[in-house]
Amino acid sequence: MDCPYLDACPIFAKFSSEGLANIWISGYCKKNEGGDCERKKLKDGGKEVPITLLPNGTHLKSLAK
Ligand code: SF4
Repeated sequence: MDCPYLDACPIFAKFSSEGLANIWISGYCKKNEGGDCERKKLKDGGKEVPITLLPNGTHLKSLAK
C-alpha cells in the first residue's frame, strides 16, 4: 500500500530528475504505507516537516531552494 501522503508530498516537485524521485517513491512511499519514512513519522505526529528532510532522515539542502 502507498503512503497516504503520496499525492500531496511536496518534496517530489523539488527534484529535477524524475528518476531520482522515483527511487525514493519506490523505496519508501510505495512500501509499508510509507511507514519507514521519517517525513511521514513527523507528519503523523502532527509535527512540522522540513522541506529538506528526505525519507531516510537525512537533509538535502538543495530542496530548500
Ligand atoms: S516521502 Fe514519505 S511522507 Fe512523502 S509520500 Fe513518501 S513516504 Fe509519504
